Amino acid sequence: MADVNEQALADTLTGLGIADEVAIEQARRLQEEQGIGLVQALLALGAVTAQDVAQAVQHMSRTVAPQAEAPLMEPSEPEPAEPEGDAAPGTVAAPHERPSRRTRTRSRATLDSYEISPEAVAAVPRALAEEYTLLPLQVSEGRILVAMADPSNVFALDAVRDHTGRRVEAIEVEEEELRQAIDQFYAAMARDRIQLTAGAKDLSAAVHQQDVPTGIDAELLQVLDLAPVVKVVEQLVTDAVRMNASDIHIEPRSDNVQVRFRVDGRLMTYANLPKSMQQGVVSRVKILAEEDIAETRQPQDGRFATQVDDRAIDLRVSTLPTYWGEKAVLRILDKSRVFVSLTQLGFRPDMLEQYDRLTHVRQGMVLVTGPTGSGKSTTLYATLHTINDESKNITTVEDPIEYEIHGVNHTQVHAAIDLTFARALRSILRQDPDIILVGEIRDVETGEMAFRAALTGHLVLSTLHTNDAPSAATRLVDMGIEPYIIASSVTGVLAQRLVRRICSRCREQVEPAADELDRLQITAEQAQRIRFHRGRGCQYCRNVGYTGRFALYELMVVNDEVREGIVRGVDASELRKIAIRAGMKSLKHDGLVKVHQGVTSAAEVAAVMFAGEN
Ligand SMILES: [Zn+2]
Repeated sequence: MADVNEQALADTLTGLGIADEVAIEQARRLQEEQGIGLVQALLALGAVTAQDVAQAVQHMSRTVAPQAEAPLMEPSEPEPAEPEGDAAPGTVAAPHERPSRRTRTRSRATLDSYEISPEAVAAVPRALAEEYTLLPLQVSEGRILVAMADPSNVFALDAVRDHTGRRVEAIEVEEEELRQAIDQFYAAMARDRIQLTAGAKDLSAAVHQQDVPTGIDAELLQVLDLAPVVKVVEQLVTDAVRMNASDIHIEPRSDNVQVRFRVDGRLMTYANLPKSMQQGVVSRVKILAEEDIAETRQPQDGRFATQVDDRAIDLRVSTLPTYWGEKAVLRILDKSRVFVSLTQLGFRPDMLEQYDRLTHVRQGMVLVTGPTGSGKSTTLYATLHTINDESKNITTVEDPIEYEIHGVNHTQVHAAIDLTFARALRSILRQDPDIILVGEIRDVETGEMAFRAALTGHLVLSTLHTNDAPSAATRLVDMGIEPYIIASSVTGVLAQRLVRRICSRCREQVEPAADELDRLQITAEQAQRIRFHRGRGCQYCRNVGYTGRFALYELMVVNDEVREGIVRGVDASELRKIAIRAGMKSLKHDGLVKVHQGVTSAAEVAAVMFAGEN
């Protein structure tokens, strides 16, 4: 059992001559000042290396006798008699004996012989458990017992201690057994957390009187019988945020309430709640969002804020009467996620350089285009971050305001009081702005105001619904904007699509399928120059093969040739040819580069290209 008592570790480090008293003393002061662990402090000071610490911990685990301290937590079954012949406890094992001791430790610690307490599992977040391959087994006031694949990993021990505020005791368990157990127990815990209420007893009675509808997880149903509505809602939100879901759908069906999460753009069923919980759960959501709970026949909107794992989360709620009752959709706005860089979003270095030039000028218009849900506003927010400083007045007009960026003036459109994009823009122009973000150009009035701003010494950023960059020009002409106005204001158009990112833990190279090549419209010969990849599926990505998303980009820089084409009023496909001759790289090109790099798959690129042709 590795006991990471800090004093013992300090003693061992000095005993082994790795660190002296002075260094330990300095580290303790740093520890006090910054509230970090002793190991972190020593590492920060450069007094020890990670290898030194590992050596010390290993030394401790060899020398600390199991009986030296009364073990607080015992296996739930008596352990089998130990084979004879090992070094006696309390003595330093000779190096050649170490493997046998390690083996013995392992055989002693199969998870079967331990009772795994939900309280212990709940004390450590799943992400941490997975990162370090560890499973908390038992917990007491001051200590936590953890099964680990590598008990000498001091970073893991530190992380658990920092998170739980408890001393960590570790046993070694075989990695594969541990991985399975982590999966199993955290999933079980997610269900168990939805639990127990007195008030829901009526609901539970109602459920049992009905036939249990098919498709309901019986175990979940049992737990939910006792569940407080409040806790269910809290749990839905917490789990959705932890799974990086963008939306929660609470959908009344004829015989139950389906709860689905949108993760990486796709809906997945999270749970089926009993029909009897429908009203309670939806009402709870409406109360949180400050909607009128008595009104059930009209659609309503609202929002509320909460915190999940110290992350500030905003939820935008929409309720809609449907045949089987009110459906609620909760859009999750994770404020921490707006601080992504353009590179993280998918910009390649050469394109980023061009885009930076377009967005760091005093005048002109840059448009971001793509279908709904292609991540346009995320790109624009990330762009604002790169140009936001106190020397500039940045003002936005949006519907809705998704995130608040410090130092930026966000304005919300209000249809009810006739505060339209165009009207808000007119007022913003009297506010001495440098940079204006117009959420979307939907009509000629907004378009004209936006172009007036771009022509009079302001940088205007906005979005349009078009499938590719060159189509932006024709869309604006169709809207009623004069081609010469467009040509003299727009400096660049960025088209984008979101694709899923292949899970880095289970990525592998594959041969492309013929139909994928067909859909991508590339020949077998072209395909030979590209390496294709996929995610095989693993526990980390919940067997999906993907984790998260990023954007494919196509940047049309409006140079002389493109400008001339716009003024002449050429159609989108002709403008596209001109732009490509002038150096534009297409969305498909960007997609294939990223397939080759192994960040996404041919199927993902084909899917968004296909959607783009509609
Ligand atoms: Zn994976």
